[in-house]
Amino acid sequence: MFSIKANGKRSIKNWSESVIIEPKHYLEPKNIAELKEIVRYCSTKNLSLRVMGAGHSFTPLIATSEVLVSLDQMVGVDFIDQENKLARIWAGTRLKDLGPELFDLGYAMENLGDINEQSIAGAVSTGTHGTGMEFGSLSDQVRGITLLTASG
Ligand SMILES: Cc1cc2nc3c(=O)[nH]c(=O)nc-3n(C[C@H](O)[C@H](O)[C@H](O)COP(=O)(O)OP(=O)(O)OC[C@H]3O[C@@H](n4cnc5c(N)ncnc54)[C@H](O)[C@@H]3O)c2cc1C
Repeated sequence: MFSIKANGKRSIKNWSESVIIEPKHYLEPKNIAELKEIVRYCSTKNLSLRVMGAGHSFTPLIATSEVLVSLDQMVGVDFIDQENKLARIWAGTRLKDLGPELFDLGYAMENLGDINEQSIAGAVSTGTHGTGMEFGSLSDQVRGITLLTASG
């Protein structure tokens, strides 16, 4: 079984409470090693794994009865590439926390939606966008993604 401690949360809701689920396991890995362990375990046992950001999507994207992973413990700016003006950010980072953290480093997101509760990975995955003809969606600001595949 997982060595990562489940936080005991039983019932998970999305923002609008249109999706209420009770996954068998709700896990919050603290680092890549723990995340790899979860992914490998699910792959070996043929368990479905879903990742949750802030749960602000209205459709049942995070719904599962098996394993739900939150990256709420994997947050913050990891690295700034000064030369290319790029920031490497952990997937679980909430936009509301990212703004001040980037500001302190002299950077900013170029555009946001009407709230800033979302995780960066959730917002980028769903085409979250703000307004303004000259701006793309948040995913337009992404230059690269590190993806953990089922093989770990
Ligand atoms: C009040 C409110 C206001 C909103 N305003 C806007 C707006 O102005 N503009 C707009 O475009 N949208 C808006 N939305 C929609 C919202 O931005 C999207 O639903 C967004 O996906 C929410 O991000 P999240 O972190 O909650 O993602 P979640 O809903 O938790 O997840 C979304 C998807 O991303 C996947 N995912 C999350 N994290 C990861 C990860 N680490 N790795 C792989 N997959 C991952 C999930 O599995 C799921 O498929 C709003 C929603 C609400 C409730």
